[in-house]
Amino acid sequence: MTLLELDGVTASYGPVQVLEGISLSVPEGGAVGVLGANGAGKTTTLRAISGAVRTGGTLRFDGRDIKGLRPEQVAALGIAHVPEGRGTLGQLTVRENLAVGAYRRRDRRAIAEDVDYCLDLFPQLQERVGSRAAALSGGEQQMLAVGRAFMARPRLLLLDEASLGLAPGTAKTVYAAIRRLRVESGIAMLVVEQNANLAFTLVDTATVLETGRSVLTGTSAELAGKDEIRRAYLGG
Ligand code: ATP
Repeated sequence: MTLLELDGVTASYGPVQVLEGISLSVPEGGAVGVLGANGAGKTTTLRAISGAVRTGGTLRFDGRDIKGLRPEQVAALGIAHVPEGRGTLGQLTVRENLAVGAYRRRDRRAIAEDVDYCLDLFPQLQERVGSRAAALSGGEQQMLAVGRAFMARPRLLLLDEASLGLAPGTAKTVYAAIRRLRVESGIAMLVVEQNANLAFTLVDTATVLETGRSVLTGTSAELAGKDEIRRAYLGG
C-alpha cells in the first residue's frame, strides 16, 4: 500500500518557485531515494512534505491530504524529519535529545526500551549519553539525529543528506545502522542523498530530480546501471 504520494508537487520560497512538478511515492515500509545535483530541489522536496514551505499539487500521506498542514501537524501524523545539518539540540545531552524525540509519547516503559534500542543501534553514543550534543563528533551527531527521529516512532522518516561532511567510513557506519533500523522497525524512509552509491545500499527505488522536476525513477539496480546516472552522481 502507498504511504506517501506526491503528484505534480510545486513549491516556492516567496516569489521564487523551486519545485515545478515532483512526483514520487513511498510504499508502506519501503525506502525511496531522492537523487540529484546541488540545487535540484531535494531538500525542498522534504520541506514540502514537512509543511515548512508553501506547496501546490497533490501530497497525500496514508490516504490523507497533507497539503497546507503545519510542521507540527505533519509530525503528529507520524512523519519525522532529520534535516540537513542534523538538528540536534546542542545544549542538551544525548539522553535528553532522545527524550525530546519522544515528547508526544506517554508510554514510559516503551520509551525507555527505545532509548536502549538507539544506544544498541549506535554503540558510539553509549559512552556519550551524558555529553552535550554540541560536544559530539559530526558522525555521532548524525547518529543522534536519526535516533531522536526514531524516538517519535514515526511511520515515515525523511532523511536529508545523512552522509554530509562525514568521513567515508563513518558515513558507511551510519547507513548500516539506518539499514538495520529499517529492517527491524519497518519504518518507511524517503532519503535525500548526494552520494548515490551510498543511497543505493539503503533504498529500493529512487527518483532523480533536475531543476525542480522528477525526471527519472527506477530501482536502485536499474539506476546504478545507467551511464548518465553514473556520470552525474557516481563520479563514474
Ligand atoms: P543541496 O544539495 O545544495 O541542498 P537541493 O537539491 O537540496 O540542493 P534545495 O536546497 O531544495 O536543493 O534548493 C533548490 C533551489 O531553491 C536552489 O536553487 C536554492 O538556491 C533555492 N533555495 C533553497 N532554499 C531557499 C530559500 N530559503 N529561499 C530562496 N531560495 C531557496
